Amino acid sequence: MHFKLLLKNRLSIFNLCLFFCLSFISNTLEANTNNVDEQLEVADKIRSSDPKEFQKIINDLKNKKHSLSESQQHYLNYLIGYQQSISGQLDQSIKTYKSLLKSNVSTELKFRANSSMINTFAITQNWTEGLIHLSMVLEQLPKVNKNTIKESGLAATAIFYNQIGQYALGLKYAELLSNSSQAKRTSCFAASMIIDSKLHLKLLEHNGNEIAEAIKLCESEAIVANFIRSYGAKLNIINNKPTQVIDDLTPHLAEINSTRYPRLIVEIYTSLAEAYWLQNNLDKTEQLALESVTIGQNIKTTQAVIKAYKLLYKVAKKRSNHQEVALQYYETYAELDKTYVNEAQAKHLAFQLAEHNSFAQESQIKLLNEQNNALAAEQALAKTQAANRKLIILLLGLVILAFTFIGMRFCRSHKRVKELAEYDPLTGIYNRGHFTHVTNSALKYCKNAQQDLSVIMFDLDHFKKVNDSFGHACGDWALKETIKVCQNIGRKNDIFARLGGEEFCLVLTSCTIDVAMLRAEACRAAIEEIITEESGCEFSITASFGVTDLKRSGFNLDKLLADADMAAYASKNAGRNRVTMFEVPETSQPKKLDNSWNYEK
Ligand code: GH3
Ligand code: MG
Ligand code: MG
Repeated sequence: MHFKLLLKNRLSIFNLCLFFCLSFISNTLEANTNNVDEQLEVADKIRSSDPKEFQKIINDLKNKKHSLSESQQHYLNYLIGYQQSISGQLDQSIKTYKSLLKSNVSTELKFRANSSMINTFAITQNWTEGLIHLSMVLEQLPKVNKNTIKESGLAATAIFYNQIGQYALGLKYAELLSNSSQAKRTSCFAASMIIDSKLHLKLLEHNGNEIAEAIKLCESEAIVANFIRSYGAKLNIINNKPTQVIDDLTPHLAEINSTRYPRLIVEIYTSLAEAYWLQNNLDKTEQLALESVTIGQNIKTTQAVIKAYKLLYKVAKKRSNHQEVALQYYETYAELDKTYVNEAQAKHLAFQLAEHNSFAQESQIKLLNEQNNALAAEQALAKTQAANRKLIILLLGLVILAFTFIGMRFCRSHKRVKELAEYDPLTGIYNRGHFTHVTNSALKYCKNAQQDLSVIMFDLDHFKKVNDSFGHACGDWALKETIKVCQNIGRKNDIFARLGGEEFCLVLTSCTIDVAMLRAEACRAAIEEIITEESGCEFSITASFGVTDLKRSGFNLDKLLADADMAAYASKNAGRNRVTMFEVPETSQPKKLDNSWNYEK
């Protein structure tokens, strides 16, 4: 029953592992004891192997809650949090863990609660909170002495990083886990996570040796072993070896079906369907892809299910008399893919934010250190005065010098912190410096994670006239209103900046140029519709837009901005109040720009 609930809750294999496999099970202990400490320990040990008995002990302990010491109560609360999470009461579980973290608990329990919370937040796809607790786990990791508990934290970290698409970090922690544990089960899970991360990072050996070794480690873990097979199949599909995929997976189909684990089954069926597609076997592709979408009906935004829809579309399209069916499959595919991209985007924006926060925190810590230095210098002065009054004047001179020096460094550091947090005071969006920092980090991420990124630039039309005719105050009002309407359309986490005067830029991560064109068009229309009477002046506002993306302009921020600017300039030339997509100029021909989004007035 717990198992079913977990499956419903969009659990990945690794969440399952965390609940069931890494809980350091020893279910041979005698459960019937009246000693509270022993009862707590037994409950902890059998929590995943014998949920029924676990529940019984927890209920028993809840009944005598008042006779428990403070630390026993904390331990019980931790176990209650765990029990709530596996029975699907995820919000309740988070509440229990949070109140536990607020009380005066041991580092070990704090660490365990944070590790469990990471997992719960991953299930509920609350990546931002997950990352907050992940940073706590990493902070507490060196202070945890018990190896098994340390390992559970490493596993939770590796899993979370992989889930959020940060495979390089996932790999690092999976390797740490693999090196720290001798237990075969843990080694098997660590190996599986290592293969998963390496597949995404394109680091897997093409000969399949690593995969074969990992499968060997997982002899007694059918689900994990077959997940590793599915990673191998993906590698073989990338390398265009469909026969290998079919030979590797087909003998294990019965075992895979018997796990009744949809996430695994859809991975395998989709990989097989892809292999048959490469072999041009339309019937087999269709049959397996259909199996995949049927089994995956509750986990439709999984990549394997999305891919299966895409294959069904391709098959129907190839059969020339099935165009209507093809269109239907395509629509489903496109819709699911959009959801998937949105989810992926939510993950990496959360990551970026966390990364950025930690950068800001570092600067704050630096600032604090500078302040401490100043304080230390003051104390040194007091001591020296007492010891030798004769030197006071000389020392004062020195101290003044030291203070000037520290003051200068303090100012510099303070300025850096200010710069980091600096927003444009008029519109409240990022200023150019901050924009450059955040966008460069987004570009780095998109390069590693092979994500799309689009840039929209726009400049208000004939804005000088607005200022000249109605005054600066009306101009300022128009600038603020422009940003407000564009923000209302966009997503909260878009990178939105004022690059100068009345020139703005929107960077959309994980966003294709087509979606970016739609966004630009929506902003254009919203700006045009601003009712200016509210400002006390009556005038019209329009803007000219230019859009580009990584595919056209590459990963260099200056080039991206220059290309978007060139497209915006083309909008101006073509009559303003329109959106132009940047087109890479053909070398032999003059620059060609697509004005298909133009608005004829
Ligand atoms: P175009 O359609 O070619 O862009 O014409 P334009 O008049 O908008 O072009 P230009 O870039 O020459 O003028 C920009 C004007 O924006 C100049 C300046 O008066 C105004 N501006 C820049 N910053 C601010 C600001 O913070 N507040 C106000 N009110 N106006 C600003
Ligand atoms: Mg202008
Ligand atoms: Mg301008």
